[in-house]
Amino acid sequence: MYLYNSATRKKEEFTTHTPGHVEMYTCGPTVYHYAHIGNLRSYIMEDVLEKYLRFAGYDVNRVMNITDVGHLASDADTGEDKMLKGAKREHKTVMEIAKFYTDAFFEDCEKLNIKTPDVVEPATNCIDEYIKIVSTLIEKGRAYVAGGNVYFDTSTLDRYYIFNDHDEEDLAVGVREGVEEDLNKRNKNDFVLWFTKSKFEDQALKWDSPWGVGYPGWHIECTGISLKHNGEYLDLHCGGIDNAFPHHTNEIAQSEAYLGHPWCKQWFHVHHLNTGSGKMSKSKGEFLTISLLEEKGYDPLSYRFFCLQSHYRKALVFSWENLTNAQGAYQKLIRRIAALDPGDGDTDAAVVEDYKEKFLAQVGNDLNTSMGVTLLYDVLKAPANGATRLAVLDELDQVLSLSLLTKAAALRQAEAARSTASGADGCVITGEGDPAVDAMVLARWHAKKAKNFQEADRIRDELKAMGVEVTDTREGAAWRRV
Ligand SMILES: [Zn+2]
Repeated sequence: MYLYNSATRKKEEFTTHTPGHVEMYTCGPTVYHYAHIGNLRSYIMEDVLEKYLRFAGYDVNRVMNITDVGHLASDADTGEDKMLKGAKREHKTVMEIAKFYTDAFFEDCEKLNIKTPDVVEPATNCIDEYIKIVSTLIEKGRAYVAGGNVYFDTSTLDRYYIFNDHDEEDLAVGVREGVEEDLNKRNKNDFVLWFTKSKFEDQALKWDSPWGVGYPGWHIECTGISLKHNGEYLDLHCGGIDNAFPHHTNEIAQSEAYLGHPWCKQWFHVHHLNTGSGKMSKSKGEFLTISLLEEKGYDPLSYRFFCLQSHYRKALVFSWENLTNAQGAYQKLIRRIAALDPGDGDTDAAVVEDYKEKFLAQVGNDLNTSMGVTLLYDVLKAPANGATRLAVLDELDQVLSLSLLTKAAALRQAEAARSTASGADGCVITGEGDPAVDAMVLARWHAKKAKNFQEADRIRDELKAMGVEVTDTREGAAWRRV
């Protein structure tokens, strides 16, 4: 596989420290609120990457942290604590907030067919690891205590700007709005490893340490958790592009200073999901969550399909219209797969193998997922029997995870039992076997009958936005997904 490495800014052949085995680390969510679909884009693409590596024959150990302490509202070492902010907003304890939003995160992941990593570790579980690392850094002269906090000394590094697409001037602490300079720091890029003093309101979770009762900085947790579960040599570190600086830069600084050798070879960053007005965030515009998508009638897997159609290193523009188009295309794809006959012939293993090879080569070019999706359409047109084409689609879906075969089988079944839902007044609704849609179509029929055409049109538009087309019939109405 060839993968773009943010650390070298080049596309490189993917290699691992131990042949055939991948140690993979993912920065997990800060569990103070629901994840927005922009955050989830990163997790979808990382999930595809992990599944691709397994499909290519690697054995993968994937580790993810859950940030339940120490993440401040600014990614520098200033600002309010995000967890504390969440707890205050909802009148709950920090641990209640962490539990609630951790569960919510994994529910979203399940809906998006995102596999849970092999190891999921809450930051609060590894305090001893952080203390050990911070103590060693002080012993090695790479960290210092000032004003009650422990800071990493960036002046001891040969090179700090690892992901060097940043302009040093832009990053100068104190220049950015709302960020006050921390006078304890010896160098402007130094960052906190352990807090005992924060100029903001103190948070509830604290632990004893050689430097006083306090809590870890955000960056140290990823180093601690990765060293604990991935070992000293990390092959692949993933995260959203906004984690590159300062979070990942600081992870590299402290990990390599602690280990005394290079730490992680390949860095994989997923770019932003933008709305018409810029980068998506929790504080700006509509708060887009998976639940909101579902409320509006979208299948979460349509969103996964939408993400797979574009490259992870390009900003993706989200709009309801774009999502409606993706949902339409996804449902059409499922319909075409449902039209294949599983009883048509025996599976031709050579054809399956051939497509697997093609998929590995095409998607293996810097995780080109849109080529993977294109290949699905090629399979549909392939001169092979139904059983073979279905077997190929099943293989490729191990990586893409679009539930292609299960959805197609369900549709086949629904069509076999071609639903007829009868309403009052003898209205017969013919559709694809979705009671929620049947109910809306019936409501429209009643509105029309009562000559409330405004309401009837409103429901028709709502159905249209969901990709459902309604036609009137002699007995009632018929609908289909378009
Ligand atoms: Zn991290």
